[in-house]
Amino acid sequence: MFTVISTARVYPPNEETLLDTRTVPGELKWAASPTEGGWEEVSIMDEKNVPIRTYQVCNVMEPSQSNWLRTDWIPRSGAQRIYVEIKFTLRDCNSLPGVTGTCKETFNLYYYESNNDREHYIRESNFLKIDTVAADESFTQVDIGDRIMKLNTEVRDVKVTTRKGFYLAFQDVGACIALVSVRVFYKTCPLTVRNLATFPDTNTGADTSSLVEVRGSCVNQSEEREEPKMYCGADGEWLVPIGGCVCNLGYEEKSGACQACKVGFNRAVSTDGACSKCPPHSHAEKEGATVCDCSPGYYRSESDPASMPCTQPPSAPQQLISEVNETSVVLEWSAPLKLGGRSDISYSVDCLLGALKGPLGAQLCLPCSQDVLFFPQQSGLRATRVCVSELQAHTRYTFTILARNGVSQGHSAGAGQSVSVTLTTNQAAPSPVTSIQAGDVTRHGVSLAWQQPDRPNGVILEYEVKYYEKDQKESSYRIMKTASRSADITGLSPLTVYLFQVRARTAAGYGEFSGPLEFSTNSDPLPLIGDASNSTLLLLSISGGVILLLISTAVFIISRRRGKYSQAKQDSDEEKHLNPGVRIYVDPFTYEDPDQAVHEFAKEIDASYIHIEKVIGIGEFGEVCSGRLRLQGKREIYVAIKSLKAAYSNKQRQDFLSEASIMGQFDHPNIIRLEGVVTRCKPVMIITEYMENGSLDAFLRKHDGHFTVIQLVGMLRGIASGMKYLSDMSYVHRDLAARNILVNSNLVCKVSDFGLSRVLEDDPEAAYTTRIPIRWTSPEAIAYRKFTPSSDTWSYGVVMWEVMSYGERPYWDMSNQDVIKAIDEGYRLPPPMDCPVCLHQLMLDCWQTERTHRPSFTQILNMLDKLIRNPTTTLRRTGGDRPVPSLLEPVVGPEFVSVWSAEDCLQAIGMGMYRDTLTTAGYTSPDSLLTLTHQKTYVKNKYLTPLQNMT
Ligand code: AMP
Repeated sequence: MFTVISTARVYPPNEETLLDTRTVPGELKWAASPTEGGWEEVSIMDEKNVPIRTYQVCNVMEPSQSNWLRTDWIPRSGAQRIYVEIKFTLRDCNSLPGVTGTCKETFNLYYYESNNDREHYIRESNFLKIDTVAADESFTQVDIGDRIMKLNTEVRDVKVTTRKGFYLAFQDVGACIALVSVRVFYKTCPLTVRNLATFPDTNTGADTSSLVEVRGSCVNQSEEREEPKMYCGADGEWLVPIGGCVCNLGYEEKSGACQACKVGFNRAVSTDGACSKCPPHSHAEKEGATVCDCSPGYYRSESDPASMPCTQPPSAPQQLISEVNETSVVLEWSAPLKLGGRSDISYSVDCLLGALKGPLGAQLCLPCSQDVLFFPQQSGLRATRVCVSELQAHTRYTFTILARNGVSQGHSAGAGQSVSVTLTTNQAAPSPVTSIQAGDVTRHGVSLAWQQPDRPNGVILEYEVKYYEKDQKESSYRIMKTASRSADITGLSPLTVYLFQVRARTAAGYGEFSGPLEFSTNSDPLPLIGDASNSTLLLLSISGGVILLLISTAVFIISRRRGKYSQAKQDSDEEKHLNPGVRIYVDPFTYEDPDQAVHEFAKEIDASYIHIEKVIGIGEFGEVCSGRLRLQGKREIYVAIKSLKAAYSNKQRQDFLSEASIMGQFDHPNIIRLEGVVTRCKPVMIITEYMENGSLDAFLRKHDGHFTVIQLVGMLRGIASGMKYLSDMSYVHRDLAARNILVNSNLVCKVSDFGLSRVLEDDPEAAYTTRIPIRWTSPEAIAYRKFTPSSDTWSYGVVMWEVMSYGERPYWDMSNQDVIKAIDEGYRLPPPMDCPVCLHQLMLDCWQTERTHRPSFTQILNMLDKLIRNPTTTLRRTGGDRPVPSLLEPVVGPEFVSVWSAEDCLQAIGMGMYRDTLTTAGYTSPDSLLTLTHQKTYVKNKYLTPLQNMT
């Protein structure tokens, strides 16, 4: 009845067919309802004469048709959305005469999901409608003589996810149809390889828009670079590839797979695409090489890339020549003949004391001393020249130059890469003397002492001291020779600045002169008291009784002199003017690089020379310890070691070291001496001389009442001397207090603690915080930070009070606020118990509100010196030959003072004119003068005394 055209077709690769009626052998035998008069199975031949099964129905004349045809159970095989492709022919109702109203041109397609593959009966109402299917515009065409039908192809899809399979049903409602074929299929994304990852055959998702994410797996001999992923789209297309794999080393990518590198090739770096040929002097004997091995005798350094040719160590340097210059040697050589194919050649120098011995040059000699210097360096030399210095004079050395390159390590044939020379250094002059110190200074002389040079280079035969007036430069100098390490220079002009230089001589000749030491001779005929020299201490001791007398007597004079300091100030200015050689202190904070300042003023000490013994205190920046320091060629000395606590900030390190930069500029017997610093290793340390008795305040408190007035005045004299030195150098201390004075075993007091000056300057709030030492600070310094030598004078007055009261706290337990108020209202500290009137008067002078009325340190020193006048004359007047009492013994006693007459005492301090006044008042003997102290007028009390009552 029908002839079918054009049914031949091939399935696309991304479609999996579940049913195709054309491929079913035999009859379909689908269930039709009604079983008679409805759908009918008809076999026909396709265009290739292959029989195919069709279903036909054509009840166009009768109304209300509902003819059902149901397929067999179709397993869904994991598909989630199935496609139904129906090929059918359909008669045009118009081509059928007399069927109007009953003839239809559509049919309905249904489905029903089920796990049962053999349902006998499914109620029609259980089917779900997929669509109503109409023919395309290709309606039935009528040909004369034969009826040729145009085949319609319609495809519908539906989601099937709930059961293992499904049934399809076709409902005819009164059309003339032939179902030529029915194909049911689902779509897949077919297996594919993308970016060296395999993606399996994947069913599409349930919805038309769904994307199924699929993870790929790396192909053989490859590894994941980034997780390979793709999405399977609803139409069976792979979409959005992400990540991928790379071939393992030794393999390269070819046609989506990884293939082993051929013999003689390698692939060593995963970023390289293809295998590459082995570089020169290397080989790969097997396929799949990850690296080409070096040929025998060739090497690769750890940092050499695999693509670089293999190389060899260099041969020996050539033509080594040496030039000896006293104790230095210049060694020069030429590059080796064979560089081994590399450009990273470098040389190192081995230095041995003695000559190489043995047939193979076995090294039987000792290595050179650590002090030997190599310039530019000892190893890693790029140039073919090195200068070796600091060798011992007259000594045999062997130098070996070793050539190395990147592959020398472990492959060097030793002697093959080196060349040696043995030589003997010449005789050398001694190194310069570096540490000259001045001891006693008088009007006409100075005693100098120094250490042996670091490298004497032989036996020192003598030292030569050269000195000249600074103003005259070297135009006229004098020379003094001595075999010892000290010299007493005499015949100098008073109040003149001299420069001193010392050099040593050995059999090899003179060494260089030391740098000049500058010193001014004294204007004052008195020797210094409180300085470290023994002679001074001696004088201090024996003069005890006399001085106390003078102190007492001086009260009258001081109290009667008004405006004296303004006059004296002029004197001091004049003095300064006369003393052009005075050095000025340099603020280390003016240096851009604080380390430069430290090294300018402080010596770097090797930490191994320091032996720490015990903790003796806690400073602002960390512990203070005592210990010993042994510098090369010097005697071991006791030192104090201040260390910078761990975890410091840059600023703290800078502040900590600034103290050393400041201290290092001073050289005075009453200023704590800096030995050096350790900055190149941790902890950072400041090394100073050791002061056995610690800080003055604690020391006095411990020895309350133990000292004579003269001993206390001796201490004050030392402090004043140190302070004069500082003010001459234009240094303002800002934190002068007994706690910042250190005392050594000889009771010599030295000013220390140079840390505060900067802190106060940097901190505008300092006056209002606890940082400022209110009790020691002058009103103008508290009020508007006017720190001057006069504000140091104020503090000095407080130190005098602390000393005379054996470390009592100034202003006792008054609050800082009350202290400021009391001072402002004109109250001052009363004299401590047993304090001579003149000393308290001096304190009051230091506490003048008007700072220009305060005495300068030069004046204070003169005052104290007048109180401790040189006793030689008086001793001579007694002709006494009494033994010298030790400093710690009480020396004030009537029997000692009795060698003086009251008049002698007054004359001795230039106060003879007051003789009558004193005599009238009943002070006729030294003993009676001694009693003239403040103890008559004041007692120790906690009430301040108004200034006007005391002056
Ligand atoms: P400073 O940080 O300078 O205030 O030192 C803290 C404490 O360590 C002082 O109060 C002293 O007791 C002690 N001290 C500091 N320097 C020395 C020194 N050179 N000799 C002995 N003791 C010292």
